[in-house]
Amino acid sequence: MERYLPDEAATLALGAALAAAAPSGCRIWLHGDLGAGKTTLVRGFLHALGWRGPVRSPTYTLVESYALTGHADVHHFDLYRLADPEELEYLGARDLLDGDGISLIEWPQRGAGFLPPADLEVFLTHRPPGRAVRVLGHGERGLAVVRQLERALPA
Ligand code: ADP
Ligand code: MG
Repeated sequence: MERYLPDEAATLALGAALAAAAPSGCRIWLHGDLGAGKTTLVRGFLHALGWRGPVRSPTYTLVESYALTGHADVHHFDLYRLADPEELEYLGARDLLDGDGISLIEWPQRGAGFLPPADLEVFLTHRPPGRAVRVLGHGERGLAVVRQLERALPA
């Protein structure tokens, strides 16, 4: 799926649509340069699920988990500062990634070799004044999410 996101509100709306579509255990990789809108998308995702607090990139802690009432946990990874994929082992990331929670992962390429395959990959790119987004589904679970997104966000 490809869309143009003209402003921040559109990125938040994509995050919200993704929250409505992503099943428990879903693993979502968020690709894009610094400032592409990855954390904004996560913010839209969490706010749609009722989270009222701040959502920041866990750049130094690498992962932030959100416990949400009536919904699977959400694990937000930011691997920008990950020096070695093995660090993820010490963080207990394996349990988070293999559990029922939904994982949203910024800079997944830094975790190559450790991360299990993605169900969904989101590619955000600067296209002034907004952003272009491409969403790729893998396997039956990923493809089902993309089909739902396409209905929720008309081109
Ligand atoms: P990243 O996590 O990819 O580094 P952020 O989510 O922190 O990026 O976003 C960086 C900036 O981009 C923020 O100021 C945000 O408001 C802005 N932004 C997000 N989506 C859009 C969009 N579709 N159009 C214009 N600006 C956007
Ligand atoms: Mg970020």
